[in-house]
Amino acid sequence: MTVLVTGGAGYIGSHMVHALADAGERVVVIDNLSTGFSSFVPSGVPLFIGDAGDENLVEGVITQHRIDNIIHFAGSVVVPDSMRDPLGYYRNNTMTTRSLLNAAVKSGVSRFIFSSTAAVYGNPDQVPVPEHARTRPVSPYGSSKLMTEIMLHDVATAHGMSYVVLRYFNVAGADPQGRVGLATIGATHLLKIAVEAATGQRAKIDVFGTDYPTPDGSCIRDFIHVSDLVEAHRAALAYLRAGGASATLNCGYGRGYSVLETIEAVRHVSMRNFAVQYAPRRPGDIMTMVADTARIRSLLDWTPRYDDLQTIAAHALAWEEKLLRERTAELRQAQSA
Ligand code: UDP
Repeated sequence: MTVLVTGGAGYIGSHMVHALADAGERVVVIDNLSTGFSSFVPSGVPLFIGDAGDENLVEGVITQHRIDNIIHFAGSVVVPDSMRDPLGYYRNNTMTTRSLLNAAVKSGVSRFIFSSTAAVYGNPDQVPVPEHARTRPVSPYGSSKLMTEIMLHDVATAHGMSYVVLRYFNVAGADPQGRVGLATIGATHLLKIAVEAATGQRAKIDVFGTDYPTPDGSCIRDFIHVSDLVEAHRAALAYLRAGGASATLNCGYGRGYSVLETIEAVRHVSMRNFAVQYAPRRPGDIMTMVADTARIRSLLDWTPRYDDLQTIAAHALAWEEKLLRERTAELRQAQSA
């Protein structure tokens, strides 16, 4: 039983592929390399360069590799981009998944794990937010993922597929072994920006909003280490293989840290006192987003290993330092050539 990972050359997908390969699973990847890197896919794992919405490609891969499980990461993930280009998000997220599901149904794939997001909740009425909370996304990104959740539910019901939807909170950190991490140029995520500041690649970090009604005035997020997140996927796969019923689960630790606390954690682990500037609120930001984790903890056999902000920050920093060393070496090589 081979696992197909779409988006397996990207940030989270590549961690997934490494974890599956480490566990001795047979795994293949489809990735169009729009934001991923072929070097992130471990040697020995077949990489098909193409679109997860290319039904011919997907059907061919499913047949050739006898795929029975799909873990679907491929998609677009930047909230502000989705505001500028909603149709691009509905294409890359909703329509791509429609095509992927069509190929999966035609080929008799029985299990499907889908990367969703806490953005489906919009501004939650209640925090920690449980899965049954109302879903009122405030960005095309959140809407495109929610539409996909609905579609997956309907398809699974009609065609006897079982699925787990995982709603990610704030994913951060990097592979503790340093093999893969977040390498996207121009990333906007808080911890990435903070480690770029800590490594001298940015002069400062802006804190978007210090006047929220929170203890220190900045927003609060539930950060989950990317390795714990992929272990949740492995647990979801084991759950489905054991005959578990389809489910939608929050993926976080259930604990919130403020933006200022997060920056402080990076200052602490890096021992670099980079500049922090208070800036106006960022439009569209949700004040507090923390997962109610009761359901995932009761349904899956999942025990987080890195539930500690400083550990997440340390792994993100180690990865950033590695990237920087590699880029500097490449630059030197180019200059001496
Ligand atoms: N943030 C910030 N400065 C930055 C990047 C992010 O203050 O340079 C804040 C952002 O306003 C939000 C939180 O950090 O309150 C998390 O933002 P991120 O983009 O990492 O993830 P989101 O929760 O928006 O998906």
